[in-house]
Amino acid sequence: VNGIKDSYCDVLIIGAGPAGLMAANWLAVQGLGPSVRIIDKRNDKIFNGQADGLQCRSLEILHSFGLGEDIWRQSNRMIEMRFWNPGPDGKLQRTGRKPDTIPGISRWQQCVLHQGRIEKAFLDSIAKHSRGKLSVERGILPETLAVDEAGIDDAKAYPVTVEVRKLSEEEATPTQMGKSVPNGPFRSSLAPDDTPAGASNGAPSASGPRERIHAKYVIGCDGAHSWTRRQMGSKMEGDQTSFIWGVLDAIPITDFPDVRNRCAIHSAESGSMMIIPREDGLVRFYIQVSELNKGVDRYSITPEMILKTAKAIIAPYTLDIGEGDLDWWTAYVIGQRTADKFSLHDRVFIAGDACHTHSPKAGQGMNTSMQDTYNLTWKIASVVKGISPRSILPTYEMERKQIAQDLITFDHKFSRLFSGKPAKDEADAAGISMSEFQKAFEQGNRFASGLSVDYQRSLLTVKPKGAPQSTVEGGTAVAHGEVAGPAEGVVSDASLSAESAGETRIEVGKRFNTAQVICHATVLPYELADWIVSDGRWRVVYFCGDIRDAACKNEMQQFGDYLASRLVPRFTPQDQDFDSVIEVLTVSATPRVENEMQDYHPALRPSTSHHHRPTPDGSYNVSPDYHKIFVDDETYHQGHGRAYEKYGVRTDRGTVVVIRPDGYVSLLVEAKEYAQLGDFFGKFLLPPGEHVTHQHTRKKRTTPK
Ligand code: FAD
Repeated sequence: VNGIKDSYCDVLIIGAGPAGLMAANWLAVQGLGPSVRIIDKRNDKIFNGQADGLQCRSLEILHSFGLGEDIWRQSNRMIEMRFWNPGPDGKLQRTGRKPDTIPGISRWQQCVLHQGRIEKAFLDSIAKHSRGKLSVERGILPETLAVDEAGIDDAKAYPVTVEVRKLSEEEATPTQMGKSVPNGPFRSSLAPDDTPAGASNGAPSASGPRERIHAKYVIGCDGAHSWTRRQMGSKMEGDQTSFIWGVLDAIPITDFPDVRNRCAIHSAESGSMMIIPREDGLVRFYIQVSELNKGVDRYSITPEMILKTAKAIIAPYTLDIGEGDLDWWTAYVIGQRTADKFSLHDRVFIAGDACHTHSPKAGQGMNTSMQDTYNLTWKIASVVKGISPRSILPTYEMERKQIAQDLITFDHKFSRLFSGKPAKDEADAAGISMSEFQKAFEQGNRFASGLSVDYQRSLLTVKPKGAPQSTVEGGTAVAHGEVAGPAEGVVSDASLSAESAGETRIEVGKRFNTAQVICHATVLPYELADWIVSDGRWRVVYFCGDIRDAACKNEMQQFGDYLASRLVPRFTPQDQDFDSVIEVLTVSATPRVENEMQDYHPALRPSTSHHHRPTPDGSYNVSPDYHKIFVDDETYHQGHGRAYEKYGVRTDRGTVVVIRPDGYVSLLVEAKEYAQLGDFFGKFLLPPGEHVTHQHTRKKRTTPK
């Protein structure tokens, strides 16, 4: 075809919102930057509004990329949630306070920061890790997508073809509702599709240079109106709610005492409102403006109308916004839907709002969207790099579809309670019970933190036979009994089971929590999670117990020999670092002054594992790794981490925990069962001969950020 350029890439990402940027970052961190493309139909002129709430799990993930601290510092932390309802006299009164984040659940608490700043952090990280080779290509519109079914199973093939067109500046600039104040529709997932006419149904349009991109994998992160989803033939299932919501981001003038706290306000007759205190003195107001069937059109809504409703809800307190103090606003109707399939032939995937939409009130969309691609992208990278076979890819849909469904159930319950009118008294059956609302908030809090995620049994997750599958129903984690896993990849071998590790607080399927430990070599206290960074490696955390005990010492010798002679050589190319596929971190219960680092097996502090530090002349220095042996001990300045107690592991024998590259626990066994590691990894790690060398190999960190 005239003037069409053909090009090839390993992964094409469509859409540069939180889901797409997480995917691009994950690939860049794993050295794939130069063979990845990320396109977005929009230019980057407007960077405002939208999501702002970051839950604990998202912060943990961002931290694992070295981005957490900076975002945390910029954000506004929300500490207390306050409830306001009509009293017996109908007047608004404060009826409750709850911690915004369940205490002790994570080292981070929920915070708010503008979505644009989170995206900026990703953009910087992508540029750094790809050495400038990967950046968002804006104003590019995909127009056709085809999959060559003959090439689906060939790991080296590029079976997906996407034709794209460069948009004009005008086409790439989204339109807004009003003129002066930035507002919702330009990037809101809840607004109508704003794709240039003639292009949304795949009909090629004339203008702009065109390109045919051949990709091994495509990830559609193109939001609620996902074009990729339509090309895949995936459908959204669920309902549209009937409430119109308005959002104002402003610096308010008010005598309401709780304006710098998160508040849920239910007024007697004027509707409900959520207050979210934000960074830089801003406050976000989520306001129920009207019901759709009352003849109000969403496009007729103005910020003045939203403010008027807000004033009525918060009365008798006053609320005003000074000239120039309204930063952003939007109005939207909520759809609560999930896509019926998340992948096509495990070559084209959708993630984020492309596969689930719901209300923004519980602050879940951006978080869940990032976590979708956090789940998917390491799997794609492992396949592209020849570390794992394609059979790991179906676990994406299996794991994330459940989360999407849980999210809709949660949102349904939370929104109904939030939007309803408060019950006047106990006999008012049509009204919403305020104690029920507070209870739902409390129960939903663990879910909302992102920490209740519990992945099902699969070839990646070895649960004891008969283990309950925990999921969320109406915001409450409930046991579902055993869920029949997919035929493919189910580990039926009961000997590979968590039972043999005895009672611990480590849960297979959930994220591995952190605890303070001390680095034996440097005596510096660290959170163990600081060393479980997102770089694509599998990790084994080895709790060796107290090696002054002969049994523990003996077990350690055997485990170390097994690592050095069997496990690592089986999966790691000879010319790569000893720990490049599987890294072992040891946590010892032996007081650090009672022994030397050299008392630990050499395979646990591999001198064959070298940190590659390029010198100015481009050669590499070689040095042993001093950051592999950690001790659960007293520190001089930061107390005792009591890691063994926190994880519930015994000090008189060893315990082995296998952690996926995304931080979820895969396998938990007694150390004496170490031979199970080979069986476990053998199911999804390929022999070293299959590995594909990429130009940019991983750079390891010597100290955590
Ligand atoms: P998006 O952010 O929608 O990004 C999609 C990207 O794809 C866009 O850049 C778009 O230009 C591009 N694109 C679309 N179609 C195409 C195409 N055909 N070709 C190329 N590119 C395309 N979530 C939270 O977690 N916490 C909150 O507090 C929160 N508050 C919210 C408040 C509001 C008012 C709104 C509207 C949403 C809120 N959300 C919140 C939800 C959150 O914004 C979304 O869930 C999140 O942005 C989804 O990320 P995404 O990457 O999947 O999609």
